[in-house]
Amino acid sequence: MEIAIIAHDGKKADMVQFLMEHKELLKAKGISLISTGTTGSKVEAAGLTVHRYLSGPLGGDAQIAARVAEGKTGMVIFFRDPLEKHPHEPDIFMLMRLCDVYNVPLATNPATAGLLIKSV
Ligand code: PGA
Repeated sequence: MEIAIIAHDGKKADMVQFLMEHKELLKAKGISLISTGTTGSKVEAAGLTVHRYLSGPLGGDAQIAARVAEGKTGMVIFFRDPLEKHPHEPDIFMLMRLCDVYNVPLATNPATAGLLIKSV
């Protein structure tokens, strides 16, 4: 199963921590991770394997949205920073909208992501 991980700047440390906490589960279930560019760099630096797409503001969210539409991504974990403005807001909404269109599980905070990942 492919899971997409994305975190806004203020949430990247939370994403790395979340993945480290669930490292064994990801491995045991054979989950492959894809991500936006900068999130992926941080996750790689923590020792995990991830396929990186473009950085979010440069189209990475749109690339992941396309994979959701194509049925290639089975879950999206997107730690959004609700206290910041984002220039690529339209792409973010597109990704979230397509998750709803295709009934793909979407977690936008660690509490929900924790519940979702245990159900894989
Ligand atoms: P980034 O993109 O991982 O390249 O920072 C995330 C985003 O802001 O959508």
